[in-house]
Amino acid sequence: MSDPAAQPDPASRASHAPALSPRTVVVTAGRPPHEPDQPLNTPLTPASTYVAGGDVEYGRYGNPTWSAFETALGELEGGRALAFSSGLAAVSTVLGLVGHGAKVVAPRHAYSGTIMQLADLESRGRIAATLVDVTDPAAIAEACQDAALLWLESPTNPALEVVDLAAVVAAGHAAGVHVVVDNTFATPLRQQPLSVGADIVVHSATKFIAGHSDVLLGALVVSDPQLLDELKKRRDLEGAVPGTFETWLALRGLRTLAVRLDRAEANAQVLVERLREHAEVGEVRYPGFGAIVSFVPTRGPLAADLLCRSTTLWVHATSLGGVESTFERRRRWKSEAATIPEALVRASVGIEDVEDLWADLDTALNGLASA
Ligand SMILES: *Cc1c(COP(=O)(O)O)cnc(C)c1O
Repeated sequence: MSDPAAQPDPASRASHAPALSPRTVVVTAGRPPHEPDQPLNTPLTPASTYVAGGDVEYGRYGNPTWSAFETALGELEGGRALAFSSGLAAVSTVLGLVGHGAKVVAPRHAYSGTIMQLADLESRGRIAATLVDVTDPAAIAEACQDAALLWLESPTNPALEVVDLAAVVAAGHAAGVHVVVDNTFATPLRQQPLSVGADIVVHSATKFIAGHSDVLLGALVVSDPQLLDELKKRRDLEGAVPGTFETWLALRGLRTLAVRLDRAEANAQVLVERLREHAEVGEVRYPGFGAIVSFVPTRGPLAADLLCRSTTLWVHATSLGGVESTFERRRRWKSEAATIPEALVRASVGIEDVEDLWADLDTALNGLASA
């Protein structure tokens, strides 16, 4: 028998004890109760159906492994989370809420997949999309006047512009729009959009949350219970549900998010200082936090492509947020915004030793001079 005094029920602890640090929550949230012989981690439960008469019934409606991941992410963001099969499945679910012909305002430098979904919906007459410069709050407020939804991303991918979230969310609400924030780059450890009034937080959990370049997963987080029900209903209906193994892996990855991010961010800060001094590098963009750095090699796009093929540690790969350092020239993708510099390299800084990372990058950059 467990001693109730020694094992306080987590719900009562949550209501009486001082709020735990996010660095603790990331480790502790969504665990089975502290009772004898309970596993410390929620096990994988592969199940397409359940014995009738309960709350779940069928595998498309819920799974205990998803729930553990959702509980943990929800606690970190200060809301309730729903996992989806990918980040773009989560994006699509939100855009599905927009009424026929309604206007969506979004950053011109939002994630290219989000921009492509908006363009696709617009081309079929489903919505009207207006792309804005997120560093211009007056332009955003103006665009919101006749809109239904304001989509934000901060920092933006890959321009790394930072939005004054509290101010822009307030301006959006004043204009009567719902505000969505893609929080993939910042993670809940650097920014919690619900706390400044955002209605929906979007994640590509594929990136920092899972953190090991082995999972595709998305999530939405909201605080309004009615909105949660509506989004859950759409997931039930449309079927963009997460894989059980994917949520298990992502929760395992999430446990180390705080240490991974601290280390990757410290590495990024050292690299940014050195890149700013490097003769082969022009513009360096870094929002001051996080592990993504964008920089522009002075010799142009061909030199940027060569750079991405010349390193030994840095991996030439798309995506970001893994423990390993990766980079790519973003405009190699036709879908990337034409306002992103042709030679811009987006680097996702990992947790390797920073001196090894710099030596590899510095050697490859210096090689551009003689190429
Ligand atoms: C990768 C990414 C997405 C899409 O997520 P997937 O898991 O690849 O579908 C959405 N937003 C941002 C900011 C991203 O970086």
